[in-house]
Formats: sequence, C-alpha cells, structure tokens
Amino acid sequence: MIVMKFGGTSVESAAAIERVAGIVKARLAYAPVVVVSAMGKTTNKLLAIASAAIQGDRHEYIRQIYDLRDFHSRESRQVVPLAERAALDRMLDEHFQELTELVKGLAVLGELTPRSIDAISSYGERLSSRIVSLAFEHYGMKSAHIDARQFIITDARHTQAAPQYAATYARLAALAKRTAGAVPVMGGFIASTENGATTTLGRGGSDFTAAIVGAGIGADEIQIWTDVDGMLTADPTIMPGGHRVKTISFAEAAELAYFGAKVLHPATLVPAMEKNIPVLILNSRRPDTPGTRIVPESVACGNVVKSIACKRQIFVLNIHSTRMLMAHGFLRRIFEVFDRFETPVDMVATSEVSVSLTIDNTRRLEEIVSELRQFAEVDSERDQAIVCLVGDNIRYTPGVAKRVFGALNGINIRMISQGASLLNLSFVVAEKDIRRTVEALHEEFFAELDPAVFDRGVPAGPAVHA
Ligand code: ASP
Ligand code: MG
Repeated sequence: MIVMKFGGTSVESAAAIERVAGIVKARLAYAPVVVVSAMGKTTNKLLAIASAAIQGDRHEYIRQIYDLRDFHSRESRQVVPLAERAALDRMLDEHFQELTELVKGLAVLGELTPRSIDAISSYGERLSSRIVSLAFEHYGMKSAHIDARQFIITDARHTQAAPQYAATYARLAALAKRTAGAVPVMGGFIASTENGATTTLGRGGSDFTAAIVGAGIGADEIQIWTDVDGMLTADPTIMPGGHRVKTISFAEAAELAYFGAKVLHPATLVPAMEKNIPVLILNSRRPDTPGTRIVPESVACGNVVKSIACKRQIFVLNIHSTRMLMAHGFLRRIFEVFDRFETPVDMVATSEVSVSLTIDNTRRLEEIVSELRQFAEVDSERDQAIVCLVGDNIRYTPGVAKRVFGALNGINIRMISQGASLLNLSFVVAEKDIRRTVEALHEEFFAELDPAVFDRGVPAGPAVHA
C-alpha cells in the first residue's frame, strides 16, 4: 500500500482534480490511500469568514460563504458523474447549511475560541475529500470517502493538536477492511479527540496526516504531491534556478523543514522515520518528474551541502548583563522568561555575559523584553533572516565555515551557530541581504553537482544574478 497526499493547489480546480484522478489511476496497483488538502485557498477563506463573523459583519460573512459555496459547486460539478450530481448538491447543501449555522452562532457570541476555529476550518477538507472521492468514480475508479476524524485521534490542543498514536494506529489498522478494494479518500489536517470534538493538526497539517496514515497502515511509501518538483538546493521564492535534490536523508529533510522549507510540514517526518517509510515529494503538474526521495539512511554525496533553507521575518534579541559576570544562573533566568511567555527560541549564541537568540513569534515580545530588562540590557533587531546550510557531510568536512565567510565577503553576519545536530550550519543576516546571501552561497556550494544526488535545474535566467 502507498499513501498519496495532494495539497491545496493540486485540488484547486476541476482541471487539477482531473489530473489527480489520472495520477491515482495510474498507480492503482500499489493500493493507494489518498489524503487531500482543502481546495486552493479554502482554509484561509474559512478563517476570514470566522473573523468577519466575530466582527459582526453579517453582510460580509454571508457573501463570503456564498462565494465559497459557489466555488466548490462550480469546480466539483465538472468532475462528478451526472448520476451523482443530486447527491453532490445535497452534500454541499448540508455542509454549507451547517457551516452557516456555526458562523451565525459565532457572530452572536462575538468570540473565536481555538475549538471553534477548528470546527470552521475543518470544512475545507471535509468538502474536498468528498468531492475528490466522487470525482474518482467519474474517472472510472471505485472510491470510498473516509472521514479522517474517525481515524486520526488527537489530544484537545485545538488548532495545534498532537496525535495519540496508539488509538490512531489501532483505528487505521482497520482501514483497508472498511474500504474493500475501493480507493479510500480522506481529508488531511482534520482529526478529532477521543470524545469526538473536531481538531486540526496545525496549518499545513495534511502532510502530517499522510505520514500518520502511512505509519498506521504500514505503507511502502508516502507520496506528497505538490506544485514543485521536489526539494531544491535553494528556496525558489528567494532564488530561482536551484537544482532538484533527488535523494536526501530523513535527518537532512527534517532540518530543512524546521528551517523554513515550505515544501514539507516539519512534523511530517516523525511517524515516517519511526517506521522507516520513504517519503517522496512529487509534482502533480509534472507527474513524470521523479521528485525528491527522502530515505532513512544517509545519502553519499560529493557535495558538502544538500540545500540552503531560509527562515524570514526573524527577530534577534541581544541580551547583555555585566552584573551576571561570573555568576551562575544567567541562561536559566533568560530561558525561564521565554518559557513563561510560551515563546520558542530558534537559534542561540552565547558568550560569558551576553546571549543572542532568535524568535519568530513576537506575540509576547514586549512582555519578554520588559522582564529581561530587570536583570540585563536588551536590544532587539527586526527584519532578520536565518540562512541554514544543510548536509550530512558538513560534520565531516573541514573548512565549511571558511568557505561561507569567503563567499559572503561584505555581507554582515549577525549570528552564527553550527547546529547541535552537526548537519547544519546556520547564521543570521539582515532580511534585505537574504537574496545576495543565498546566491553567493549557492554559487560557492553548487557550482559543481554530484549527478547521483542532484538534477541540474532549468538553466537559470539572468534574473538570478541581477
Ligand atoms: N488546509 C490546511 C491548510 O491550509 C492544511 C493543509 O493544506 O495542509 O493549512
Ligand atoms: Mg502544504
């Protein structure tokens, strides 16, 4: 069995869903279980509807619900068999009526709780999974719609729920029996508590669903179908012209996902790694491109670096206290403050009396800074970015830092850390320097490519060095 997950852009329209049907149909021999995201930008739209509701903007939320229904109806009609159109309309009516009731309730309360956010945002995947399942019938496959909420069981941390693996795997073990030869189609992202309250796994969580399902059914492979050719040597939103990475280890891919590679939700690899199931990243617009294969073992490679990841919109805090010179407990006091305000710290660099660290969540920044000021001087710099070189070979290769500093001649590096995992080297530069930084590093580390690991991308146009 394999799991095939299709992201929002892969199911954004009738044409996209038709492509998905073709891709799945060509792989029926592998007994696929299909996981889908909400169609296009539906999750964002649902969240916008919720916020219009609590602002009491009745006209606005009614209009937006209407638009969303219209969008789903228009796209799905083209891919659902004639005989099923009445059932489709009934399904859409039911879902949109329920959604409207829920939204009206929110408007009365004027308050949005994490639990109600989950209830609302679940509609995207609930709709898309039913539509895709009906579409498969239209394209000549037998399909069974599965409500993911009956299989993926989580704790009650709404909007960011964590799976309860034992309960989830026990239910997933029975999945194949339930569907008896038909292709199961379920929504990603959505789940429920033991008590049946709808939860979600966090934004972008459909990848995570795919991995949980793969681990639960003991799949041979977890395929993540998206709109890029796979993992690239550089983030395409920062620098076009990167090369496709054909094979990469779990450890390296996880590092890239933590450091901002949008192509994979960072939690995705955990269940796959535990069960040693390879994860593939594939492009649903170019299904014949081999994509990126993420494998349990490390991958021999002639290049030191496999990819450059970036995390933008980072804050750097510099914390300095001469009062704490020679005193113990400085670091503990600092981290207690971040702990109290539930703010994760990404990167840290320390010396005797000063600590620099980065955060990307600035919700509690003011409170944090004012607490820290009770025992230290603090300054913060906004508009920073983390650039992260990832590769197993970094730990074995002397002189990587020297090459980085050489390549970045003239670009100011604010902070540097060789990750404790030894397979990354990350540093902070000003956001405005990010493109220059990535281009210079890309030239330094990817001028020559190990053909066993990389596939040279379409030759970069002049824009790359502009
Ligand atoms: N639809 C959800 C989101 O937009 C989950 C996903 O697409 O992975 O975040
Ligand atoms: Mg995604």
